[in-house]
Amino acid sequence: MPRSHQQLDALVVGAGFAGMYMLYRLNRLGLATRVIEKASGVGGTWFWNRYPGARCDIESMQYSYSFSHQLEQEWEWSERYASQKEILEYANHVADRFDLRKDMQFDTEVTSAHYSHCDEDRGSWTVSMENKQGCTSTIRARFLVMATGCLSAPNTAAFSGIEDFAGPCYHTGSWPHQEIDFTGKRVAIIGTGSSGIQATTAIARQASQLFVFQRTANYIVPANNQPFRPGEQQQIKDAYGDLRSLARKARNGVAQEIVTDPASAFTPSQREQRYQQRWDDGGLTFIGVFSDLLLDAESNQTAADFIRERIHEVVHDPETAKMLCPDSTFGCKRLCVDSDYYDTFNRDSVTLVNIKEHGIEKICSRGPVVNGKVYDVDALVLATGFDAMTGTLKQIDIRGRDGLKLVDKWIDGPTTCLGLMVAGFPNLFTITGPGSPSVLSNMLGSIEFHVDWISGCIEHLEKREANRIEATESAESLWGKEVERVVDQTVYRTCESW
Ligand code: NAP
Repeated sequence: MPRSHQQLDALVVGAGFAGMYMLYRLNRLGLATRVIEKASGVGGTWFWNRYPGARCDIESMQYSYSFSHQLEQEWEWSERYASQKEILEYANHVADRFDLRKDMQFDTEVTSAHYSHCDEDRGSWTVSMENKQGCTSTIRARFLVMATGCLSAPNTAAFSGIEDFAGPCYHTGSWPHQEIDFTGKRVAIIGTGSSGIQATTAIARQASQLFVFQRTANYIVPANNQPFRPGEQQQIKDAYGDLRSLARKARNGVAQEIVTDPASAFTPSQREQRYQQRWDDGGLTFIGVFSDLLLDAESNQTAADFIRERIHEVVHDPETAKMLCPDSTFGCKRLCVDSDYYDTFNRDSVTLVNIKEHGIEKICSRGPVVNGKVYDVDALVLATGFDAMTGTLKQIDIRGRDGLKLVDKWIDGPTTCLGLMVAGFPNLFTITGPGSPSVLSNMLGSIEFHVDWISGCIEHLEKREANRIEATESAESLWGKEVERVVDQTVYRTCESW
């Protein structure tokens, strides 16, 4: 196999929203940078997650870059919540508009990244990769930025016998590029997280029969999605700065009125009214109705009860409604947002199968088997999620100082400095890495924040003619005020630099 070697200032892994913005920033610093991407195009998670019904659960006007005023003003979204297709179009537009593709290499998978230093001052990463044709190559770079996303390694849940299934099997996180028509088909879908609920609603419109296998019921709030009314989007754009700064102040990076009153400050009917108002507005701001929903068990219960009542109101069959009611603490898992999910169970063709007790026993040639019963289907959809946060990073053979393997360092779970850096791995940065708010927040805002910090940090090193930066072990257990000190973009004192 032919091998080639290149020496760069920085190498970025991943061409999703994080990788694209990182490249933009490093280009502006004048650093020789290359982005390596496994897919054949930009978009990251939105490149792969093409399942029916895939849509963002953060409003389009906020799930978009804020770094360019012109970009903000010129791009037109069609709906309150953008579909996967529209988000991918946006990602492609950004890549073209900022001429990013010239520094990107697609269809190439990074297999390893090893750090070495030739003397006390100079170190670099040797990154090995393989393209679709099986050609391997190596790039050396001073800085390595992992923009690999938090949800990129699909969890294909090892169901015994799955290889015996006679029909096609799809995973929501690696959906085929051509449209799959389920019309007249009997379909089984396993998993009821954000992907599963969106796919359920869409597939139910086509399938002759749909079995939804639910292990854990989730709290799902309505999106209230709709096309923008004429003039509505321009109105938001006219005050875009205010919207962005409101989002930055919110705990989850989604603009909303910040409520400082606890649920107990209101009478039951006032509470009901407030819940109803945010329920009707739609979206993730439901979690911020009161200040203490995630701090006080009694307050939390009032939100949980409100949602359970709505489920019973919508779903006609009381047994199905009961199964759909979550019994977990409200908001502990990320809320799901969708349109018509609960109503979908009023279709005669849709059956909810509770697998909490028995689980999926196996998959046979005819379909899933639960507690001895075979569910005969023509197609299987796995909406079983991802090896989240660490999955993709662990799949790459990453070795830091003195050959330290990342998988060994994280054997008892990931430790990082704010999800940005890892002690023992100099000049390695992770964007929205483990330990940062990442998927619990508006990802676009969190990505921009991390990229700005990383590029600020590299600029700082360049100005000081320093070659190396590494998080200390103590920086991995920062808390409270220390965090505030570290995130201050101009100060890097908790990290050692040479
Ligand atoms: P997920 O939230 O992890 O859900 C996976 C589902 O599969 C869960 O219901 C899980 O049940 C079930 N499952 C996993 N293994 C199973 C097994 N062996 N047997 C039976 N059931 C099994 O994954 P996701 O729905 O793909 O969502 C992941 C994240 O992606 C979300 O939190 C969200 O951040 C993001 N997302 C966002 C959007 C959006 O913007 N609208 C859309 C899709 C995804 P248990 O709960 O019991 O484990």
